[in-house]
Amino acid sequence: MYKLESFMAELEKRNPAQPEFLQAAREVIESVIDVTNENPIYEKYKILERITEPDRVFAFRVEWEDDHGDIQVNRGYRVQFNNALGPYKGGLRFHSSLSLGTLKFLGFEQTFKNSLTTLPMGGGKGGSDFNPRGKSDAEILRFCRSFMTELEKYIGPNTDVPAGDMGVGLREIGYLYGQYKRIRNENTGVLTGKGLSFGGSLIRPEATGFGAMYFASQMLARNNDTIKGKRIAISGFGNVAWGAVMKASELGAKVVTISGPDGYILDEEGIGTPEKWAFMTYLRASNNDVVEPYAKKFGAKFVPGRRPWEVPVDMAFPCAIQNELSLEDAKTLVANGAKYVIETSNMGCAADATTFLIEKKINYAPGKAANAGGVAVSGLEMSQNAMHISWSAEEVDAKLHAIMVNIHESCVKEGTQEDGYINYLKGANIAGFRKVADAMVLMGY
Ligand code: GLU
Repeated sequence: MYKLESFMAELEKRNPAQPEFLQAAREVIESVIDVTNENPIYEKYKILERITEPDRVFAFRVEWEDDHGDIQVNRGYRVQFNNALGPYKGGLRFHSSLSLGTLKFLGFEQTFKNSLTTLPMGGGKGGSDFNPRGKSDAEILRFCRSFMTELEKYIGPNTDVPAGDMGVGLREIGYLYGQYKRIRNENTGVLTGKGLSFGGSLIRPEATGFGAMYFASQMLARNNDTIKGKRIAISGFGNVAWGAVMKASELGAKVVTISGPDGYILDEEGIGTPEKWAFMTYLRASNNDVVEPYAKKFGAKFVPGRRPWEVPVDMAFPCAIQNELSLEDAKTLVANGAKYVIETSNMGCAADATTFLIEKKINYAPGKAANAGGVAVSGLEMSQNAMHISWSAEEVDAKLHAIMVNIHESCVKEGTQEDGYINYLKGANIAGFRKVADAMVLMGY
């Protein structure tokens, strides 16, 4: 019999100073411990011990020359967490605070998220402590080349298929793929999120945000409600927030906030026009990591140094970074009448915020379910590359929609409580875990 606290004590001993990984692991283990104990084969095969230990971790030096001719040194990583279901799959994050512990949390989460999509993908994650802020285009190119010069040794279309994440978008994927091709002379689509002209998939840039809105629409439908007319707070201003803002607006909701490290924008008119969406992509591409210019351009309010969760809304979609919504924020949202909190960033809510939201029977969805649309369309990009074809936007969008509906159903199936409340966290964890655990059992140790 597994016991949560003794298992976690051992995990903490093995992984000191990795609080985010331990937070993510506890969240999953807590949800699946009963299922595990009901299936003695899981214990026999030491599934919990094995599933919390990455298959392997690569760490490497990345050296590059800045615009002044000075040599800079960063650290690069790739965590290949679990390949029970398919090639390792997961994004690359470039962020100054990135550590191995953060990547282990992300790779662990990715394993269950990818399982939920039902596509044949294992879980991995990588990146660097390189800070794109203030870097020129040429510096980003030189960094990406150097990073890929090492990373290419560990990846391949049937081994490990990286994509974007924070700080890694279309431009960075292009530079990385260019270097991969230079070294390997292969057009196998080893990265996803590529440009359309060289193997990328339509709808991939929008997919995470679109998927979150499709998932939210399913949650609402279960409560005989719709997203139309809802007032929404979104954090972040990058690729994920951009897709979420566009789809929410298209479905008739009003998004009133976006945010950056400098503060948040309150736009009472709604962030609902192509001009405003285009400005978000401009802000992201400018590498300044600020949203304040939006306020000046569109006559909206800028609230410096604060997060958007203090704005009264019906629904909140954290779209920026892990632990961006604290217990205090959750209390404020609920006190102001919010009924839905949908994590669109990975582990967007702090652990105590999640517990509070579930206790209060708020419709809360964890990132690994709600934000799986991004990696799902990455999986579709892999399929298109393997078949050497391109699907239309309508085809990809329909498949994305079907995947999100299916993930929602899996959560409902495994997470419905006796009182009818749907514990999406538990549902997503159990559904994602079962498939990986069963595959691991079938393949032996
Ligand atoms: N970084 C995204 C995620 O967190 C996408 C990963 C991918 O497309 O491989 O799921």
